Amino acid sequence: MPTSDPQTADCVFCRIVSGSAPATFLHQDDLVVAFMDIRPVQRGHLLVVPRRHAKLIPELDEATLARMWSMATDLNRALRASALPCEAVSVYVADGDAAGQEVAHVHIHLIPRHAQDGFGFRFPPGYGAQRGREELEAMANEIRPGIPPELSGS
Ligand SMILES: [Zn+2]
Repeated sequence: MPTSDPQTADCVFCRIVSGSAPATFLHQDDLVVAFMDIRPVQRGHLLVVPRRHAKLIPELDEATLARMWSMATDLNRALRASALPCEAVSVYVADGDAAGQEVAHVHIHLIPRHAQDGFGFRFPPGYGAQRGREELEAMANEIRPGIPPELSGS
């Protein structure tokens, strides 16, 4: 079903979901699909993608979020059970441009990992120093107002 929504007409993942662009699928259901990343970081690199267009995780409904995580976990198991080199799995979401998001449609990366695979995160200067409790509390206090009351018990 081709989309006429201008927000999604340019979205390659929406085109894949609708069948108007090709992909190598691992799974499709009413809420999520999973397919192979066309530019894999490692062999077996795959993506879990909601059918509904949304750029960021906070825009998704609970049922879709739950299904995405469940599907990602099933595929994590499948990668580990496969013959692909997979000593570990990186599960990663770039949630926004500054995080390195390249396609503006939410996607969970599952990347098989092994020792010496050459992949990793680059940390900023100064990373590694433990912070004092007071500073950690100050950071937490910046976040706490946005947590729903029923979840914010501490
Ligand atoms: Zn999309």
